[in-house]
Amino acid sequence: MANNRGIAYKGPGKVEVVDLEYPELVLKDGPGVNPANVGRQVPHGAILKIVTTNICGSDQHMVRGRTTAPEGIILGHEITGEVVEAGPGVEFIKEGDICSVPFNIACGRCRNCKERKTGICLNVNPDRPGSAYGYVDMGGWQGGQAEYVMIPYADWNLLRFPDRDQALAKILDLTMLSDIFPTGYHGCVSAGVTTGSTVYIAGAGPVGLAAAASAQLLGAAVVIVGDLNQDRLNQARSFGCETIDVSQGDPQDQIEQILGEPEVDCAVDAVGFEARGHGKDAQVEQPATVLNSLMTVTRAGGALGIPGLYVTGDPGAADDAAKVGSLSIRLGLGWAKSHSFTTGQCPVMKYNRQLMMAILHDRVQIAKAVNATVIGLDDAPRGYREFDQGASRKYVIDPHNVTGKVAA
Ligand code: NAD
Ligand code: ZN
Ligand code: ZN
Repeated sequence: MANNRGIAYKGPGKVEVVDLEYPELVLKDGPGVNPANVGRQVPHGAILKIVTTNICGSDQHMVRGRTTAPEGIILGHEITGEVVEAGPGVEFIKEGDICSVPFNIACGRCRNCKERKTGICLNVNPDRPGSAYGYVDMGGWQGGQAEYVMIPYADWNLLRFPDRDQALAKILDLTMLSDIFPTGYHGCVSAGVTTGSTVYIAGAGPVGLAAAASAQLLGAAVVIVGDLNQDRLNQARSFGCETIDVSQGDPQDQIEQILGEPEVDCAVDAVGFEARGHGKDAQVEQPATVLNSLMTVTRAGGALGIPGLYVTGDPGAADDAAKVGSLSIRLGLGWAKSHSFTTGQCPVMKYNRQLMMAILHDRVQIAKAVNATVIGLDDAPRGYREFDQGASRKYVIDPHNVTGKVAA
């Protein structure tokens, strides 16, 4: 019966609101579901009524046709919701709890989960380590840009907010805990950001802006954000960041103008494989640009946090090497400077509780930093379009108008 609705990817540039079955505690077949996952029983799962679910730059890679995502896949990995049913194997999460869902799906039982590496859980995706809701190659767990969604291993995966009224009052901040706030924070932590650091963050999309707010929270002395989108650079300046327009040339010179030296202590790639070139190449896609430039601008002995996504299959890449994710990385430079690199999915669970406390106690204004913008489910196609065109907004879908902010 169609008593759920969600956002489906319908081919390059196209998303649609579609009718869906109400979720059950079983992983059903559908577009992109790994055959070995079909019929998987989920007594440890919970059904959530979605409170908020955000559109992400990671979704855009799929919607732009830059991944092998199949048509029909239901999108959405940034989920906050109210538990409306807890499976028979769920002990501690209760009906009525309002929870943040880490975008990584993890079992809590495997070697990697036990090491808190929940971005590469071994038991939830037969294709490869690591999984997520509504994402290509991630096992086929249905996405949460919908009215209802099923969450496996609910006791392990869900972060319960302590107070319902307080949670709803701060929901636009708390909704960022499912992905971009921990991801930006992880980018900074893995780049070694601490008190007094100088930091360069490539990319002023929601992840870059979340990284910038995180760098401030961690005590950085100077936070510099680079992009070629003026609105997004203005957004970064609105909360005290220095900015660099990479269309004016390589970041190194502009970093020198800001800091008096051409290098920073720490660097974060919040762009990924759809990176533009610098200077006169700014309108051209050059997937290795950011990684190479971060090695140039990071001090010897420094570290690069790389939350920006790199793929193993890109049908839209300019050359054959890039089609399988091989890029011209100048690793010799990074080696000569003894750089450390941290890549991969952010293990959200490592950070979400502390960042929730920072939000609840007003230590950070993350919704404001990323310009959270509420839309209804029916407006999601417009949200995708505007975000793709570079709007300096983080679109938050509120399918049941819980915030009261959805335009009629
Ligand atoms: P986004 O597409 O909104 O932002 C990317 C920004 O990079 C854009 O504003 C673009 O103009 C800018 N850009 C392009 N080339 C640049 C260059 N050479 N230098 C500086 N800026 C440049 O995406 P987002 O939502 O902010 O996400 C950023 C990346 O992080 C994406 O690749 C996304 O898939 C990835 N991501 C990873 C994780 C993780 O767990 N690792 C989680 C969430 C998102
Ligand atoms: Zn995301
Ligand atoms: Zn696991």
